[in-house]
Amino acid sequence: MQRIHFETEHNLFRDAFRAFLGKEVLPHQDAWEEAGVVDRGVWLKAGEQGFLLPWADEAYGGAGLKDFRYEQIMCEELARINEPGFMIPLHSALCGPYIAEYGNAEQKARFLPGIIRGETILAVAMTEPSAGSDLAGMRSTAVDKGDHWLLNGSKVFISNGLLADLVIVAAKTDPSNPHAMGLFLVERGMPGFERGRNLKKLGMKSQDTAELFFNDVRVPKENLLGDAKGGFYYLMNMLAQERLTNACGAVAGAEAALQATLDYVRERKAFGRPVAHFQNTRFKLAEMRTQIDVAQVFTDRCVMDHNQKKLSPEVAAEAKLFTTELLGKVVDEGVQLHGGWGYMWEYPICRMYANARIQRIFAGTSEIMKEIISRGMKL
Ligand SMILES: Cc1cc2nc3c(=O)[nH]c(=O)nc-3n(C[C@H](O)[C@H](O)[C@H](O)COP(=O)(O)OP(=O)(O)OC[C@H]3O[C@@H](n4cnc5c(N)ncnc54)[C@H](O)[C@@H]3O)c2cc1C
Repeated sequence: MQRIHFETEHNLFRDAFRAFLGKEVLPHQDAWEEAGVVDRGVWLKAGEQGFLLPWADEAYGGAGLKDFRYEQIMCEELARINEPGFMIPLHSALCGPYIAEYGNAEQKARFLPGIIRGETILAVAMTEPSAGSDLAGMRSTAVDKGDHWLLNGSKVFISNGLLADLVIVAAKTDPSNPHAMGLFLVERGMPGFERGRNLKKLGMKSQDTAELFFNDVRVPKENLLGDAKGGFYYLMNMLAQERLTNACGAVAGAEAALQATLDYVRERKAFGRPVAHFQNTRFKLAEMRTQIDVAQVFTDRCVMDHNQKKLSPEVAAEAKLFTTELLGKVVDEGVQLHGGWGYMWEYPICRMYANARIQRIFAGTSEIMKEIISRGMKL
């Protein structure tokens, strides 16, 4: 289906980003997967070419492109080549905006230029071993010690956990109020900030998802983002954009899985004819085509609404719920239509299947999306 919300400049940006991925990412994917982490150098190259935080003000080195379609294009192109480890969207559309939105002038001037150049890789650390969906249940604390905050606690499942130079860490700041939370900018090398294992996962093999530990970390006062008790609100506020990012990648991932499956069933023969010719195959593919087209139109509309600051948390949750569930269905049926070869890592559909599973869990599970949507229905 023809998409109508991209203009010439977006198409040029897509061509440039696709060429960048072809040169700097595709040749390294197997090695990164083996290493469990992408090469730091690719972040610098992405920065050089203006692909990190293109929305940021020119004063900091950004391009001032305040248009979420550019972020959407990067999510789509990364999904198209099935690269889960080089998380530009996490850096550019999730973490960077916290600093731009809630940072003060000094923090923006100090951090944004390095972030835009790819020298300072970002992560956000909310989840703890005993608190994921229920963020108010987190146990990490930051105590006001006058000239600094004393941070203690641990985080788990943190994307970019090993590579990150600057981690936005959520911690409780008032024992009497479970929603009083601060966001602290914890820098590589701060004494007491330790990294744990690169966690072994079902998919996303090139992504360094890690545990982080904070033992009496003295975080300078100037590294607190915004209000010391406002972190919970900041997190909730930013999650709509995060979920839209997931939706953009999920529809593109579903499209990539459909294309990989189409290629396969046209070639593969059974009972003397291509698998594509069986009615079951054609019907399954027709269902996928229809659902992806519908999901794409909805997602594109959400992107345009977000550009106008009109995307509600409920609709962002609908987008994440629908597209990530669809992605799960498409990759599953894609594997089925590949037969045994679909279970082999050497086939893209196998990796897509493994990578897709997390989409229904992180950035809020499907169940939490349903809670948000139903809350909006005032049930
Ligand atoms: C690969 C990966 C990368 C990640 N990256 C990051 C990151 O960079 N930063 C970060 O902070 N976190 C990250 N996460 C954490 C992720 O966001 C959480 O795993 C997710 O929010 C779910 O939390 P949980 O794992 O504690 O599950 P739980 O909250 O324990 O949920 C377990 C089950 O209970 C269900 N459930 C929970 N509450 C309700 C409810 N109210 N109603 C109905 N059902 C409910 C859930 O839907 C789920 O099915 C990552 C996780 C993974 C696996």
